Amino acid sequence: MGVRLTNVAKTFGSFHALRDVSMEIPTGSFAVFVGPSGCGKSTLLRMIAGLEETSGGEIVIDDRDVTAVEPAERQVAMVFQNYALYPHLSVFENMAFSLRLARRPKEEVNRRVQEAARILQLGEHLPKKPSQLSGGQRQRVAIGRAIVRQPKVFLFDEPLSNLDAELRVQMRLELTRLHRQLGATMIYVTHDQVEAMTLADLIFVLKGGVVQQAGAPLALYDDPDNRFVAGFIGSPSMNFLPTVIAAREGHRVTLQLEGSEHAFTADLSGQAAVGQAVEIGVRPEHFRIGGAGLPVQVEVAEELGDVSYLYARTASGREIVVQRQGSRDRLDGQTVQLSAEPRHVLVFDGEGRRLR
Ligand code: ATP
Repeated sequence: MGVRLTNVAKTFGSFHALRDVSMEIPTGSFAVFVGPSGCGKSTLLRMIAGLEETSGGEIVIDDRDVTAVEPAERQVAMVFQNYALYPHLSVFENMAFSLRLARRPKEEVNRRVQEAARILQLGEHLPKKPSQLSGGQRQRVAIGRAIVRQPKVFLFDEPLSNLDAELRVQMRLELTRLHRQLGATMIYVTHDQVEAMTLADLIFVLKGGVVQQAGAPLALYDDPDNRFVAGFIGSPSMNFLPTVIAAREGHRVTLQLEGSEHAFTADLSGQAAVGQAVEIGVRPEHFRIGGAGLPVQVEVAEELGDVSYLYARTASGREIVVQRQGSRDRLDGQTVQLSAEPRHVLVFDGEGRRLR
């Protein structure tokens, strides 16, 4: 196992920043901790790095209990958002720094730095100072400093947040390639769900210091455990509408919209009583337009060429976002009818738990 956390907790005074976090990150995987500001994701990463003490629980890296081990002895390397480069040192010396500190032989330092520079295409920049580099190049140097240490685990704390949108997309691809090339275990913290979806093979969604759900990106997208994960993963977000279970026949339930004649249907195999108030969740791309359905008024249509987003409102004033593929007929100001297949209608109880 690459990294295993068992019942890890962190308190700051009486504040519980993390509660009872357990997870397994297989060797060689790309794990992403994602969640809104303050959910505890950076604290969790810092605890794995050893920069923050745990208040309880156990941290195991590569089958060694490191809970009480000094950061330098954990065989991890962290890449920070602000790069943390030494401005007075050349790119070469920045990357060589930790190896010199560890008194590695000169020939080995040279070899490892050259190898990292080759992987990151920094060769021509080795003599330069950080101030002579672009933001993307500086971030590559910061990654190079981690690579030369040959750590068991790479830890990334929002490494792309200082870069502009275009560069972020480019660096995202570079990180995926780097991960494939090195085959190392990587753990990456971000608040950006798109970054999480594109980079990860394993996502941990956090909120309020608790892991809400862990799984492969598309598993979280298709099969969220609760309303928070359903709404957090995916852009534009899932639509939520308050309903009441009006009828049930076997697995098929009829979900009557509040303040509307209209109903959706969904399939539930577990407990769900007629009369229970629930919320339904439908992704923007899962609404069908036309036929008999929930009437909504389209207020704004964003046409992006291949895809369009309709921002619409129900008669009771709820906002709905619909994604359409391909079609270019203008629907601004029109009333359209929305429906969805039962398998695309997710149901959440009053506490936001998914009913299946
Ligand atoms: P962000 O994306 O904003 O960095 P985060 O999810 O990474 O958020 P953390 O930085 O891990 O969140 O912080 C989690 C919670 O713990 C926050 O509410 C924060 O205010 C609190 N916290 C973090 N460090 C300390 C500290 N040294 N003392 C007190 N509270 C702290």
